[in-house]
Amino acid sequence: MKKKTTFKAIYNFCLCLIGLTSCYAQNKNVHPASPFEFRGIYSPTNALDNIRDQYGTHHVDYDWGLWGHNLHKVVGENPDESIVATIDGKKDKDQYCFSSDKMYSQLVEYIIDNFGDGETPGSSTRISIMPRDNKKSCTCKQCIAAGNTATNATPAVTNMLRKLAKRFPKHQFFTSAYHSTRMAPTEKLPANVGVFISAIDLPMRVTFTETKGYRTFMGLVKEWKEKTDLIYVWDYSRNFSDYLSPFPCLKVMQRRLQLFNRLGVKGIFLNGSGDDYATFDDMQTCILAKMMYDLALDVDAEIQKYYKTNYPETGKLIADYYLQLEHRVDESNHIIPLYGSMEEEVASYLNVKAFTEFRSRLEDASKKATGAEKEKLRYMLTALSFTHLQMLAMKPSDDNQQLKAQLIEQLKGHKQLKGMNNYGETDAVIDTYIQKIDN
Ligand SMILES: [Zn+2]
Repeated sequence: MKKKTTFKAIYNFCLCLIGLTSCYAQNKNVHPASPFEFRGIYSPTNALDNIRDQYGTHHVDYDWGLWGHNLHKVVGENPDESIVATIDGKKDKDQYCFSSDKMYSQLVEYIIDNFGDGETPGSSTRISIMPRDNKKSCTCKQCIAAGNTATNATPAVTNMLRKLAKRFPKHQFFTSAYHSTRMAPTEKLPANVGVFISAIDLPMRVTFTETKGYRTFMGLVKEWKEKTDLIYVWDYSRNFSDYLSPFPCLKVMQRRLQLFNRLGVKGIFLNGSGDDYATFDDMQTCILAKMMYDLALDVDAEIQKYYKTNYPETGKLIADYYLQLEHRVDESNHIIPLYGSMEEEVASYLNVKAFTEFRSRLEDASKKATGAEKEKLRYMLTALSFTHLQMLAMKPSDDNQQLKAQLIEQLKGHKQLKGMNNYGETDAVIDTYIQKIDN
C-alpha cells in the first residue's frame, strides 16, 4: 500500500513537472504584436520547428495550402484540355487558362480534401494561384471576354480568385504581381484576396529612395493598394550566386521592412537559401525574425547578444568582424549584390585582408570551442574556405598553390555536413566546383 502511494506521488509529481514545463514553453514563446501577419523566412535555420515556435516566424512549406508556381499539383502535369491556354489561336501547354470551369472544380476539390472549408478554428490557410512562370497569357474567347490581352492575364486570374474567395470566405487567396499578372485589376478584390509584390526592383542598399527602382516598386504597390488591402512583399535576403560568403544584409533589410510597414504591407516573405546552408544564417534568421516584431531593433546590440550567447568562445571575434561588414554597407551605401560574383562582393563590402585575418583567427579560436559551438564553427570554417578560394581565384598565383590545396581539402569536408551541398541557387554544386578548380 505504501509502495502504491509512493508510486502515485511520483506519478503526480511527474505530471506536475510536465505541466510546468509545457507552461514554461508556452510562456517562453509568447510573442508581442507584429506589424506583419505573415513572417516567412526561407532559410535553413527557420526550417526547424522549434526555431519557428521560438521566433514566431512562418515557413512556406508549413504555412501555405498551395505555394508559388505549384498549380500542377492540383491540375496534374497533363491537365484537362480546357485548362490549357490558347496563345496566338493555338493550344499551348506552357500556360493555363484561368477561365476554365474544370480548373475551378479541381481547385475546390483539392481545397476541401486537404484543408476543408476553413470554418474550424485554426484550419484556414493561404493558397497561391499563379500562372506558370512565363509571360504567356491566355487569349481564348472567355479570357478575352474577361479582359485578358496577350500580355495581361490579371483579369482571368483575378476572376478565378474571386470565385474561390466567395466559395471559401475563411481561406485567403493570393496571386503575384509578376510577368502576365503584374498589372492590377480594374475592380476592387474581395477582402480575402491578396497579392505578392516582389521587391526585386528596390536596390539592395541602405538608401534607395532616390532610385528608379524605388519609384517602380512604389508605383506597383500604389496600383495594387487601390484594389486590395492584403499586400504581401516577396523580398530577398541572400546572394543567390554565393550562399557561403558573408552577406551583410541586416541593416539593408531593416530599412526595407520599415518601408513595407509604412506602405501598409501585411506580410513578408524573405527568400533566402531554402534548405541550403548559408554562413551566418543562424544569427541572421534570429535578427530578421526579431526585426519583424520590432522595426526599430538595435541591430548591433542584438548581433552582439546573439553571438555572446551562442558562441561563448568565439562570439566576440565573429560579432566584431560581422559588424564591420554591416557598417561598411551602411556607411558606403554600396549595393549588396543578389547575384554577385566575388569581385562584386569585394567591391561592395568584403575586404580581402580583413577576411583572411578573420578566418585565420577564427580557425585558431575554434580549437577551444566545445559542443554546439564547435559543430557550428565546423560548418562556418568549411563554408569560409570557399570564400577564400574564390578570393584566390581573383588573382591566381603560383605562390598560393599550397594554400589552395589546403582550402580545397577543407571544403571537401562539406560532405560530412548536412545541408551543405550547394554554394548557390542553380548549377552551384560544391563537388562540381571542387572538381573544376582542383587541377
Ligand atoms: Zn482562357
